[in-house]
Amino acid sequence: MHASQNAVYAELNGNLIHISEVPRGASCGCLCVKCGEPLIARKGQIRQHHFAHLSGSECHGVNETILHRLAKEIFQEINSIAIPPYIFEKSRKLKHGPVLEHVESVARGGKVTINRIDLETAENGFVPDVTLHSGYKKLFIEIAVTNKVKREKLRLIRISNQPAIEITLKEEDAFLSRDELRLKLQTNLESKKWLFHPSQKDAERNYLKKLQDEIRKYNACARPNRARMTNLPVKKTFSRATVNHNPSSWELAIYDQNYFEFCRKHKREPTDEESRKLWPQ
Ligand SMILES: [Zn+2]
Repeated sequence: MHASQNAVYAELNGNLIHISEVPRGASCGCLCVKCGEPLIARKGQIRQHHFAHLSGSECHGVNETILHRLAKEIFQEINSIAIPPYIFEKSRKLKHGPVLEHVESVARGGKVTINRIDLETAENGFVPDVTLHSGYKKLFIEIAVTNKVKREKLRLIRISNQPAIEITLKEEDAFLSRDELRLKLQTNLESKKWLFHPSQKDAERNYLKKLQDEIRKYNACARPNRARMTNLPVKKTFSRATVNHNPSSWELAIYDQNYFEFCRKHKREPTDEESRKLWPQ
């Protein structure tokens, strides 16, 4: 079943409880975690036990609310969490053809001891779902079910310069027992993704340098062609000089720029005839 409006957790006296902990029927006294309506505990022989709204209404998104709440409760119970290594990987198809790859290890990952947990405690301009304190270090944790972390929040996390990971839970995880979900949060690595790490900035700088070097290298390759072109007996005149005379540095700069633009646009080098037209008119 696992229909999105069915749930196996409900609220009872302010606590989140599993269907296995309550008696069958409306006497369970449970309320919906999302909308607060009274629930009925359906514990029959055939279908998986679940809560239904007494009014018969469907409550979409209830499992997302449950997962957020359950995960936050579990974080207060555990004393460690396994996090994946952070490998910075960037791949970019360069305009002139080749693909530039950059892979760099940013963080080792492993087991993080939890000394203290803050839930939804405001940082500078944003509110992380969970703030984990390990020694004097902080780790922000975002729990994503259907909604991934928004761009603006990512920007603010980056400004804070603190490490952050996102844990993605599937809606069907809301049907796990508390123990099963605890195990998943503590040990599963596939569901965890790095959003930011301060050392990432070094990796980004290294990537950028590699990219600039690559472009410089390409420009250097294009230059001999330009040098060859400057010696062509081109008749076309400039306002100040002809290209078969020594072009000024300004003309060379414009030619370079046009040449590079041409290569980018056409994904090839210009023919001799075409390159003549690249000189400033
Ligand atoms: Zn509801």
